[in-house]
Amino acid sequence: MTARILDGRAVSATILDRVRREVGEFVDETGRVPCLATVLVGDDPASHTYVRMKANRCAKVGMRSHRVELDASITTETLVDRIRGLSADPEIDGILLQHPVPSHIDERAAFEAIDPTKDVDGVTRTSFAQMAFAEGGFASATPGGIMALLDAYDIPLAGKHAVVIGRSAILGRPAGMLLLARDATVTYCHSRTVDLAERVAEADVVVAAVGRPGLVRGEWIKPGAVVVDAGYADNTGDVEYEAAAERASFITPVPGGVGPMTIATLLEQTIKAARDHEAFRTHGSA
Ligand code: NAP
Repeated sequence: MTARILDGRAVSATILDRVRREVGEFVDETGRVPCLATVLVGDDPASHTYVRMKANRCAKVGMRSHRVELDASITTETLVDRIRGLSADPEIDGILLQHPVPSHIDERAAFEAIDPTKDVDGVTRTSFAQMAFAEGGFASATPGGIMALLDAYDIPLAGKHAVVIGRSAILGRPAGMLLLARDATVTYCHSRTVDLAERVAEADVVVAAVGRPGLVRGEWIKPGAVVVDAGYADNTGDVEYEAAAERASFITPVPGGVGPMTIATLLEQTIKAARDHEAFRTHGSA
């Protein structure tokens, strides 16, 4: 078997076309341009690249981006204050704090300074609870993008065994919650998991979210399984691509799979936030 590609570039392009149209309608109706604030702390080159890509995409769909760059040495208090300022600013619809922040900063405190109505990257406790209870709200951008990609290919999830490798707050954990909300049977694996190979071999759907190139061996994949590789380190995913593609029914390439879906989800959620804010201003409710 040679897997079909889950083409994140093509699916995200369709989503971004729709977002561009929705932004145009929003501007016509309100006279206001939706705005995403991006907050970058420190000078990690990869983080700079991600933020630049997000700002470029904003421009392509007709949104504004407001870039905040802060020195790596700032304190948690200063960062929290800056994010609270953005949360209170009526011109800002969405806030993205680029992860990771320098290790001396309390990242959770910084995330929680984001007003939940502007949490378009889905990183606050409020958003996590909404994902966990299947109550709508904003999905974490990468897991939300993964779900949109699976849906674009009509991949059934109810009753399927999904194995999520990784349990970070922004990726693995919410990915499992979103799969659970769609009635998958979810197993989480992490650094303390014994027999990762056996867990993966049981999976109908594998979501790899670790950041260790080649961790998931192609021979572990159950024939016909769906493989989603969110990992990205040294330009490589977590899954041994060629060998896995021989066994899987669908697989994401790296790059060109999950990455573009993350940005599309972020911008889709930003226009939604802008509409909700506008509805609140007009009618007093979203
Ligand atoms: P993270 O916070 O470092 O979490 C990594 C997770 O992998 C942890 O839960 C860790 O387990 C687990 N892990 C580590 N070694 C393992 C092993 N040998 N076996 C099984 N699990 C293991 O990373 P993250 O922020 O979630 O990101 C994960 C990857 O996704 C990275 O490569 C990142 O670049 C990529 N990413 C991609 C996108 C995108 O848009 N494509 C977005 C975000 C992240 P413990 O919890 O036990 O430590």
